Amino acid sequence: MAEKSYHPGENYRYPLIIKKLLATPLRDSPDREIVYSDRHRYTYKDFEKRIAMLANGLTTLGLRPGETVAVFDYDSHRYLECFFAVPMMGAVLQTVNWRLSADQIRYALNHAEAKMVIIHADFLPILETIIDHLETVKTYVVTAENNPPDTKLNFAAEYEELLQSAASHYPFPDLDENTKATTFYTTGTTGNPKGVYFSHRQLVLHTFSVALASGAYDTLARFRSNDVYMPLTPMFHVHAWGFPYVATLLGAKQVYPGPYEPQKLLQLIQREKVTYSHCVPTILQMLLNCPTVNTVDLSHWKVTIGGARLPKGLAKAARKLGVTIHAGYGMSETCPVMCAATPKERMLDWPEERLLDVIIKTGKSIPLAEIEVVDAKDNLLPHDGQSTGEVVMRSPWLTAGYFKEPEKSKELWRNGWLHSGDVGYIDAEGYLQITDRIKDVIKSGGEWVSSLDLENVMSQHEAVLESAAIGVPDEKWGERPLMIVTLKPDFQGKVSPEELKAFMKKFADEGKLPKYGVPDRYVFMDHIPKTSVGKLDKKVLRTSVQ
Ligand code: AMP
Repeated sequence: MAEKSYHPGENYRYPLIIKKLLATPLRDSPDREIVYSDRHRYTYKDFEKRIAMLANGLTTLGLRPGETVAVFDYDSHRYLECFFAVPMMGAVLQTVNWRLSADQIRYALNHAEAKMVIIHADFLPILETIIDHLETVKTYVVTAENNPPDTKLNFAAEYEELLQSAASHYPFPDLDENTKATTFYTTGTTGNPKGVYFSHRQLVLHTFSVALASGAYDTLARFRSNDVYMPLTPMFHVHAWGFPYVATLLGAKQVYPGPYEPQKLLQLIQREKVTYSHCVPTILQMLLNCPTVNTVDLSHWKVTIGGARLPKGLAKAARKLGVTIHAGYGMSETCPVMCAATPKERMLDWPEERLLDVIIKTGKSIPLAEIEVVDAKDNLLPHDGQSTGEVVMRSPWLTAGYFKEPEKSKELWRNGWLHSGDVGYIDAEGYLQITDRIKDVIKSGGEWVSSLDLENVMSQHEAVLESAAIGVPDEKWGERPLMIVTLKPDFQGKVSPEELKAFMKKFADEGKLPKYGVPDRYVFMDHIPKTSVGKLDKKVLRTSVQ
């Protein structure tokens, strides 16, 4: 019998687009809640309607497919609505880091050719300073959470009013999966911010891989449908590391906290029974330092730390409070997640100290992510736990380049690998350990000293709250490491530089640090400067401490 053959046009060419992430949660968890701080809560069913209302509202205001919408907001249910509605319409979501300087924000909006701005009223003072220099924006929408905003700016609509007057159905199209969905700007040490961008296909594949890596394997800190999710990474920072898409796909309860105030965040964790979050180390540090932390039961809270090395001292302090913690790795250019420092199944019953050494590593690659370490000529280095070089990556979700920056894109992508600018090694178990940013490497007497290793050791001193190691010029050695330290409140004025040096030296004597790596100088600071996404700002430290 002849085989039935199909016309090429008959089968459905399934596009990997953001719209497709919604069917499962809407079927399985329509009544699960999405919560905005202590202001608002609704269900996935309401969320679906509001996505359609937002798309209708934006269409009425003239937004067309391919155009870019820049959003300034705290972590909120409205931001989540924009994460879906804007790309699902075929437009591009630009998430704006409102902690950058007004000049950098102006540059990013002009460079991305944003046509529309959606802005929380709290950020109007920024907009007021740049609005006359915005070259492409035609329409402004304001979110007035409290009262009508006190501004002379002319808005086409208020967010809630726009939704209230819009229909709750929208024919979201089947887009080409390679349609650009999101963009945002990342700041380097010099020059203008650079735009990275991601397609629907990339975001969908990233979502699936992160969901698989976080939920499917028998390991620590699993993130699943019955978890309660609260981001502690701003939604402007690499889509809150992509987890809002994962949480939505899983149909998990979601809690968006608004501005990050430590006491309020702890209250939300308690009240909403939050079980899964992710953040940079400084945010966790801020919560653990909060005077009320001991009144909150954190024993059901799982936290993925990324954006910077998870110091062992911080991991220990968190575990002491019952928090399940591990590190992860990625960067703006990589969507971002590439690695998670989750233990393999057979490591789960390892003793505490040994397990701790696994979960503070940079991590092993998640499905479909490839990570290698290369020498200066891009030769792959062995996974022997020693050979150190630049970290290079491949996966389906890496940015194709920097928007309208061919030269910088060529530097990023060489020989088919995305070059991270990070230095590290991979061990025989396949775990990556980042030792530095190339730009932060300290070279003493021709030898590399890892600033992250130094900080990791320093974090284990009982008096140390935060530490940052930088290289300072030295006549004899070229450069020497210098350690900057903030002390815990109880230890202020009670610890000397000599004691800190003796502590570091002990690790060197035990072979855990190279002897030449022990810093000679220790500088106390009340507060270590941070970047716009809460990382130690070594650029500022290098110029302010010598
Ligand atoms: P960003 O583009 O702001 O997300 O920053 C990405 C950079 O953060 C990476 O290139 C690393 O230098 C750093 N980073 C992220 N995760 C880790 C980690 N687990 N350990 C050390 N550095 C990290």
